[in-house]
Amino acid sequence: MFLSQLKIIGFKSFALKTEIHFKEGLTAIIGPNGCGKSNIVDAIRWVLGEQKYSALRSSKMEDVIFNGTIKYPAKNVAEVTIIIENNKNILPMEYDEVSITRRLYRSGESEYLINGNKCRLKDIINLFLDTGMGSHAYSIIEQQMIHALLSDKRDDRKNIFDEAAGIMKYKDRKKEALQKLNANDSDLARVNDLILEIEKNVRSLKRQAAKANKYLSLEEEKKEKEIF
Ligand code: ATP
Repeated sequence: MFLSQLKIIGFKSFALKTEIHFKEGLTAIIGPNGCGKSNIVDAIRWVLGEQKYSALRSSKMEDVIFNGTIKYPAKNVAEVTIIIENNKNILPMEYDEVSITRRLYRSGESEYLINGNKCRLKDIINLFLDTGMGSHAYSIIEQQMIHALLSDKRDDRKNIFDEAAGIMKYKDRKKEALQKLNANDSDLARVNDLILEIEKNVRSLKRQAAKANKYLSLEEEKKEKEIF
């Protein structure tokens, strides 16, 4: 499996349609400071579903849309597509070539596509789980991640090893299951509140019923006495 193509339009500094073809072997991108090299890495991370704008070096997600220069007007949509050669069927799909697209409109609306078909972000995340690729996997290593690898903090390094060991999928499922359990806990708390409320009503109704019964028997007794 390898990343064979990257297509960018309207993303960060890429006003014009830009296609990068990665051949086998090593590809190096060279350029002066600030020319947009890291934006290429950001584009790959973004199309793989990155949700944290800080990981993309932006202060809000909308900032990834090309915001204009003297030469080119701002764009209203950012679009990135990657094409992956799935020659070893590592991605659980029948296709030998898999394309992933992400679009973001200035209105805030976003779209994800797998091989041109609209899908959910979750489908993209699931597709790459434990493949070593993904917005948080070790296939994209930028400066921040090198700091994490060399970090003294165990958790920083552990996430990278977890992904490499293939247990991220289970960790994600565990997180989802725990979220569902938490939701059930709050449902249970609501049901318990209702039970308490109903029990209070039942006690008061019981008291009223006892009074009504006493009234009826006294009334009966009164009637008998009057007849007598
Ligand atoms: P360095 O070598 O300093 O790390 P770099 O080559 O990696 O730089 P990047 O950090 O990728 O460069 O790109 C920064 C450039 O991208 C800046 O010139 C910035 O103005 C431009 N840029 C970032 N977001 C946008 C945007 N939304 N619209 C237009 N240009 C943008």
